[in-house]
Amino acid sequence: MEPNTPIEKITRLSPFQKKALSGMGIKTIWDVLKHFPTRYGEKNAVKSIEFLTAGESAVIFGRISNLKVGKTFKSRVPISTAQIEDTTGKIKLMWFSQPYIAKMFEEGSIVRVEGQVSERKIGSDNQSSELSLLNPKIEKVNKIPDGTSESLFGETDDHNLFPTYKETKGISSNWIYHCLQKIFRSGILENLKDPIPSYILKKYSLPTLSTALVWIHAPRTEKDADIARKRFAFEEIFFVQLDRQKERQLTMREKTFVIKKTKKEMDEFIGTFPFPITKAQKQSVDTILKDFESGHPMSRLLEGDVGSGKTAVAASACFSVVTTPPPNREYGALQVAYMAPTEILAEQHFESFIEYFKKYKIEVGLVTGSGAKKFPSKTPGETWTKISKPQLLKWVESGQIPILIGTHSLIQKTVKFKNLAFIIIDEQHRFGVKQRKELRRKQDIAPHLLSMTATPIPRTLALTIFGDLDLSLLDELPPGRKPVETKIILPQNRQDVYESMREEIKSGRQAYVICPRIDEPDKEKELAVNARSVTEETKRLQEKVFKEFKVMSITGKMSPKEKEDAMRKFKNKEAHILVATSVVEVGVNVPNATMIVIENAERFGLAQLHQLRGRVLRSSHRPYCFIFTESKSAKTIQRLKSFMKAKNGFELAEADLKQRGAGDLGGQKQWGVSDIAMEALRNIKMVEAAREEAKNIIEKDIELDSFPLLKARLNKANTIHME
Ligand code: ADP
Ligand code: MG
Repeated sequence: MEPNTPIEKITRLSPFQKKALSGMGIKTIWDVLKHFPTRYGEKNAVKSIEFLTAGESAVIFGRISNLKVGKTFKSRVPISTAQIEDTTGKIKLMWFSQPYIAKMFEEGSIVRVEGQVSERKIGSDNQSSELSLLNPKIEKVNKIPDGTSESLFGETDDHNLFPTYKETKGISSNWIYHCLQKIFRSGILENLKDPIPSYILKKYSLPTLSTALVWIHAPRTEKDADIARKRFAFEEIFFVQLDRQKERQLTMREKTFVIKKTKKEMDEFIGTFPFPITKAQKQSVDTILKDFESGHPMSRLLEGDVGSGKTAVAASACFSVVTTPPPNREYGALQVAYMAPTEILAEQHFESFIEYFKKYKIEVGLVTGSGAKKFPSKTPGETWTKISKPQLLKWVESGQIPILIGTHSLIQKTVKFKNLAFIIIDEQHRFGVKQRKELRRKQDIAPHLLSMTATPIPRTLALTIFGDLDLSLLDELPPGRKPVETKIILPQNRQDVYESMREEIKSGRQAYVICPRIDEPDKEKELAVNARSVTEETKRLQEKVFKEFKVMSITGKMSPKEKEDAMRKFKNKEAHILVATSVVEVGVNVPNATMIVIENAERFGLAQLHQLRGRVLRSSHRPYCFIFTESKSAKTIQRLKSFMKAKNGFELAEADLKQRGAGDLGGQKQWGVSDIAMEALRNIKMVEAAREEAKNIIEKDIELDSFPLLKARLNKANTIHME
């Protein structure tokens, strides 16, 4: 019996179960062992009523009322009905053929109910629907467990540590539990080799692999389960760190361009800006210049809220590069590639760079999917000129044009530089390192890399996911910015907000309306609570509320081209109101848009709300942000209030991590780490320990020759990445 032995060798599987398991990515014994419980104790998750979804199983604690007995309309079956209410909402309960239930409970008593949430059409036209629990288990309890309706987690007590797993039809938690018992009895655990060196386990008092597997699936105490989770979290972060530290070391050892500028030269350039730079900007520039002098390729992440002035930092760094001649030459210039995520942004950067560099007559090129431009123009009265792409690329290749700005089209093989010394990547922090590799092509000297982002990332996450990058923060906005006036709006005041929007739009401004979903709920699957959708809201606003204005929409379902077109139209004032999902979060700049309305704000993370609000910060007009919520949960209101007051994205990202939990940062989807590792990111000590240990190992033994198990695992992980 080996970890990669197929499951059917240990337990009988029906073809249906086999299919269900493989749908969950489970084929081997090892896969089952790594299918960790999502929780213990309560067999189902304790939920707040407001977050119930049709089809899920849930446990709810709350007050019961409206107890009644009746008969079903057609078949005359006796039916008991009631409703249960917690701090977040109400839901109907129904029991068929159990008329006594209504007699068993007193109005207003506190109960625990458990069952499946179902959704049914109501009303004569079947237009609306309602959620209910059908035939739920019900029992009286003395009190609602602490924090239940807020935290989603009930109390677990030691005598009830039944593991709950992600399930699928045919594969219940119970089935997994029994399958694991068989695996444990097979003796396979005794032969497992632990990839984490034992000195590290000892140092941090972590259990070995086989102990941790037993403890996570069949813990005797909650503490054992916690320590086991901690070990697996450490393991995952440790491997991410090994990978990043190796990447970092390999980069550090490469040859690069040494760029030295005097303070006087830099001050002179920065002195041409129409504003004094902020302390944070100055510090970032100084750090970058130090990196440039060091002789090692820079790999740096510059993190700063929208409007914190990242472009000015990038321009200063560029200046030092393009005024430096190539090695062993007295004239000519080192070159810069500046990559933006969209055409609109690339064009914006092109225009700002012209402003920054025109006094120095430094040439700037722009290449996107739709063509090429060059500054300066030879034609009098024109700042830039359209030129053919091949012509522009020829000048880039000969080294005549030192700065090339563009979209993904920069990656194309036709784009060649003579002396590419510096790469700037805007808003694509996940790909920075990979793009450096692609952009430098066969150049044997490594360019420096600056990756810039407005996504607020908690420190632990940055240290992990971007462990191969150094971090600079712009944690201060330029002085004199009008903060966005943020208000939480009660549902009954919706009309007032529309009136304010109407006035703003009449005076020439534009507005965003953000909805959490694209389409109306898929009645089977999606969140049955009625979160507003872009489709419906666009229609409603256009037809019912703002007949006199043009309303358009944009969502993540559209192709990149469609999105660009929609944004361009909005920017050109072809519409007054843009209804969107959170796709407008990144990088879009429409200075004339001064209002943002966010529907169902409780459904967004704090950091995300902050980024959305940043969309209206660009303007010289007073910006407004109105947030709607139908949530009555005290915790949600608390969160939204902290958003109202906060000025800085980093604080909010940390607050999100603490309050909502790592899952809400979009671990798997956005950053490619498991839920268990995201949980660990709440623990800065663990992250630092994993980083330290990985660094020590890599510094001594970059190929991991004396750690064959680590090496095998890391290589395996990397092949998976490449696929
Ligand atoms: P980011 O890319 O970080 O969102 P930008 O670099 O685009 O921000 O800067 C936003 C705006 O603020 C630009 O119009 C820029 O000219 C201006 N700006 C940048 N730095 C300063 C500063 N120190 N003082 C005043 N305005 C600034
Ligand atoms: Mg920017």
